[in-house]
Amino acid sequence: MKTSPSSRRGRASREADRLVELAEGLAHSGSRAEDHFWGSRLDTEIDALLSGADEASLNTALDRLADRESRAYEELADAIEGRVEHTLVKASDGTRDVLLFAAPVLAWSRMPLPTRSLGTNTLQALRGHLQEHVFSEKADVALADYFFSPDQLPESFGETAEMRQALMAHLTDGRLAVDTASLNETAQFLADQRYVIGVVSAPQGEALFRWQEGMITRDEVMAAWRSASQDVFTALLPACGFEPMLPRAYYVACRDADRSARPFSITASVAFLSTTLNVPAAHLEAVVAGCYNRTLEEYRIGFQVTEDESVIHGIVWPLLGAEDEMSDVVDEIEATLREAGIQKVEVLRQRMPMEYCEDCGAPLYPNADGELVHAELPETDEPAAQHLH
Ligand SMILES: [Zn+2]
Repeated sequence: MKTSPSSRRGRASREADRLVELAEGLAHSGSRAEDHFWGSRLDTEIDALLSGADEASLNTALDRLADRESRAYEELADAIEGRVEHTLVKASDGTRDVLLFAAPVLAWSRMPLPTRSLGTNTLQALRGHLQEHVFSEKADVALADYFFSPDQLPESFGETAEMRQALMAHLTDGRLAVDTASLNETAQFLADQRYVIGVVSAPQGEALFRWQEGMITRDEVMAAWRSASQDVFTALLPACGFEPMLPRAYYVACRDADRSARPFSITASVAFLSTTLNVPAAHLEAVVAGCYNRTLEEYRIGFQVTEDESVIHGIVWPLLGAEDEMSDVVDEIEATLREAGIQKVEVLRQRMPMEYCEDCGAPLYPNADGELVHAELPETDEPAAQHLH
């Protein structure tokens, strides 16, 4: 039978209803026994929708619960992400856990930050360091042979699950060849994230990460990973400042990276401006404004040289997770700017629109007069790496 768009919509709605009902059951549960009841049914529904590529029902259910600001939203989001990034597989030696993970790197450069294929030696070195310092002794690791930008990560739940699935098929040879033609273009920022993506597998119920074995803390794993991976990332990120982050399960690693990228981009911007323009941080001023669609979406920060009215550089500080205008995000921005050495920070009280340059699409940034303007680096002797017009 041919299905009309409206009958598909009807079905999406019924399936979303079921997810909402199960997530609410889980949110109101009063015991581990009841959690298990709701949770296992929710998992089954989610698996069916993922294997049927029914992204719409997953998103409809999330949207409905987001509007109600309920705990059920968190339960459903956790459950979907959990089913996307983790699975059990039967192997010759018994059942194994398989988890999609990410190893993010924060980086900045005056030149465009690279995205690139990872050669055999690089991939082997990364795998070796991950196995030695991050994952447990019994773990197997497979990596995608590409150094991804945020724009190139899988976009939907289904695509992310497919990536996990594709990587799983390479646990024996350790390498998934990425079709680079299918990857999105990368928007260029002074500071941004790059990602190494892979799956880790271990016998069911045993430790995946080294810190689960109880002999070493997460911070110690982080320190060991940073120092071991230093040479590989120096080669991948020439002429860049960078900071490898703790490899973790995919979604939490991406959230860690998004959060840490905010203060990192302030530090990177101040370093960039003081080296490029020879202006010490103490001579820079920052103007912070909240930009709104219907609600507060992000803060934008314009940088000016003292006694000069043009905005020479700008950065966006996006809101994350449950943050809104009641959150004390501005205090954090101010503290980060001051820590970076900027003494004059002005926070505009008025609501600003989300405006972009009509020519190049760059966000406009606030100046001290309360206007949104195009950031323009002043002429220097050295060629500017930033896109200007
Ligand atoms: Zn422009």
